[in-house]
Amino acid sequence: MKTTVSTKSKKKCEACGSNDIKTHMATFPVKLGPKQLNVGRVSVRECMDCHAMTPTKAGQEKIARCTMSFMMLLDR
Ligand SMILES: [Zn+2]
Repeated sequence: MKTTVSTKSKKKCEACGSNDIKTHMATFPVKLGPKQLNVGRVSVRECMDCHAMTPTKAGQEKIARCTMSFMMLLDR
């Protein structure tokens, strides 16, 4: 039986496991089928080692809102 040590929710890079993460605003590209939507000023966590970007919760919400309105523009 394994006892899992409850680690503090430290943010780690999902790609390389680095702890060197910085949160900042960035333009985040979202793939929508053949198109790409660049959502501006999204709150992301960026790994300083491999530069992988992961949106924060607020960032994900903004991306979801922008994606929705983009889809509505396309859907006519
Ligand atoms: Zn990384």
